[in-house]
Amino acid sequence: MAHLSILAAEFGEDIPYVGGLERGFPFRGRRIPFLNRQKGIYRSAVQTGPAALSIHTSAKSPYDDEIVEDGFIYAYRAGDVNQSDNRALRAAYELQVPIVYFIGTRPSWYKPVFPCYVRSDDPVARSVVVTPGTFVGPVDEPAPTPLEDLDERRYAVRQTRVRLHQARFRGRVVPAYSSQCAICTLKEIRLLDAAHIVGDLESGGEPTVRNGLSLCSTHHRAFDQSLVGVSPDYTVHVSRRLLEDEDGPMLDLLKGFHDIPLQLPVRELDRPDRERLEVRFERFLELAG
Ligand SMILES: [Zn+2]
Repeated sequence: MAHLSILAAEFGEDIPYVGGLERGFPFRGRRIPFLNRQKGIYRSAVQTGPAALSIHTSAKSPYDDEIVEDGFIYAYRAGDVNQSDNRALRAAYELQVPIVYFIGTRPSWYKPVFPCYVRSDDPVARSVVVTPGTFVGPVDEPAPTPLEDLDERRYAVRQTRVRLHQARFRGRVVPAYSSQCAICTLKEIRLLDAAHIVGDLESGGEPTVRNGLSLCSTHHRAFDQSLVGVSPDYTVHVSRRLLEDEDGPMLDLLKGFHDIPLQLPVRELDRPDRERLEVRFERFLELAG
């Protein structure tokens, strides 16, 4: 989990398998995979205990109806209930050991949720409920622990769900723009975000590609702060406040992009929605000063 934290710090909410998760982690002089992409339930051969190390689902799953109030429903592997993968999953329940849940956000990208615990086991329905836990203890060596309080578990599930939606939104928007910033064309995937044109709490704020812009961290922040705006004719505008400000190398990063065309997605149907841009641009004009 410490190694996953490092990867998460490097890549953000979701982590690519290639160049990221495929590195695995070192353990007793060996390199151990984080997950097995060929099957959902994974227990490493070097483990002495019987419980699973991680589980995963692909980008299409879990659907929202597989998310219950205090956890995620995770199905057994097909076949015998006591088949080895199912035994490993059920042992994680019996022993209450922490596991990692890798949730697919786009093909070959996963959001790791950890620590997780198997909260309940239903061999008749052939499924378990997996719920997020927490870390307690010193900053340098916190120990994973289950959340005993129901309200805390529900809160953790809601948070995970929100982050999952954000990660999937990013997973749709950023590739639509050929994985570059729509303003400065920066291509560093680790610095690219999906910015909402209309905020997700407002009407029209759905997480669709047409309500998104692929922006680098700097331009995302500047867009959110109305320091840069995009007009419905797909032109980038920098606020007058910034344009009239003193020169400086950091400001050039923003000022240099005034009155340039936005880099659009290749596919026409992925292009930003002009009506949403208009709503947002009016606000920019009000605030840009
Ligand atoms: Zn940028």
